[in-house]
Amino acid sequence: MRNFSDRFFRQQNGSVAVVTALSLVILLGFAALVTDLGSVHNQKSKLQNALDSAVLSAVRELPAANTGSVKWIEAQNQAIAYAAANNYTISTDDIEPLYQDNQTTNKIIGIKVTKSMGVDYTFARVMGFDSTTVTDAAAAGVVPAGGVTGAVPLSITSSALSSAIAAGVTDDLMIKCSSDADEITIDNSTATGWFGALRFFGQGANDYEANLANGYSGTIQVGQILDMESGNMSGPTLDGFTTRYNKCTDSCTADNFTDNCPRLVYVPVVQVLPSKQVKVVSFAAFYLLACGGNGNNSYIKAKYIPGRVIADSAAGGGGEDFGVYTSRLLE
Ligand SMILES: [Zn+2]
Repeated sequence: MRNFSDRFFRQQNGSVAVVTALSLVILLGFAALVTDLGSVHNQKSKLQNALDSAVLSAVRELPAANTGSVKWIEAQNQAIAYAAANNYTISTDDIEPLYQDNQTTNKIIGIKVTKSMGVDYTFARVMGFDSTTVTDAAAAGVVPAGGVTGAVPLSITSSALSSAIAAGVTDDLMIKCSSDADEITIDNSTATGWFGALRFFGQGANDYEANLANGYSGTIQVGQILDMESGNMSGPTLDGFTTRYNKCTDSCTADNFTDNCPRLVYVPVVQVLPSKQVKVVSFAAFYLLACGGNGNNSYIKAKYIPGRVIADSAAGGGGEDFGVYTSRLLE
């Protein structure tokens, strides 16, 4: 009896030891897996962040006409440089263009980067797992801006700008006209006595002049209804223009200017309403060329500059595509 019970307990102890040992192996195995999977997850999110910032940076160069255009090459270089700054190597093979309406004959409005890389396991090697492959992708595109902060209280109608673009004559457009027959290109047939000046807030000449000189500090949105500034506003137009124009001291030109040059202005593209008001349908960028009329019947001529990507300041969606864009992550 004594022998039997000794043997019984020894056997039990042995079983417990075996079970304990097995449990430990399984437990350590799981711990190894959890640690390694955590590490893989960490690597994956670091890669995702790097790719997101690479495409967001690259998309500022877009839109581009096609894959042969300088802008597309710059966009690719920008993505490669940004990834490199975050210690990831990508090549043009990892980059693909996104076309407007997914038609390869259309312009490139987005960029996608896909990157795969091996991540070595540390602990799971014990269980025979050496490494795994992590793949991430990021895409960003440009969409017409739905709002602009710093716009100037001038305008062009969507019909006038559309016809100018269609005719390929955009070097010398009127964004504030005069009552002289030669200087009327804003469709004011439905609003006599309006020459393109807009009222953003407040009333009268001083606010108008300040908004022209400095840009409106608030945001103008697509869909917004604005009052026309009635009358020629000739003096304030010349004064506001002159202040703004002379803020640029780097003697730039319409073909070569910096992104923040004061001569680059953002103008509401509008539809004329019967109520002596306009509806903002989009925005266009212009480089200021000249203010004519000498403060008496003043008009402003400017060069249309398409393809500007600005900071997103819209609550709602964008309007018609007149070349002022904001960038978005797409996936
Ligand atoms: Zn300048």
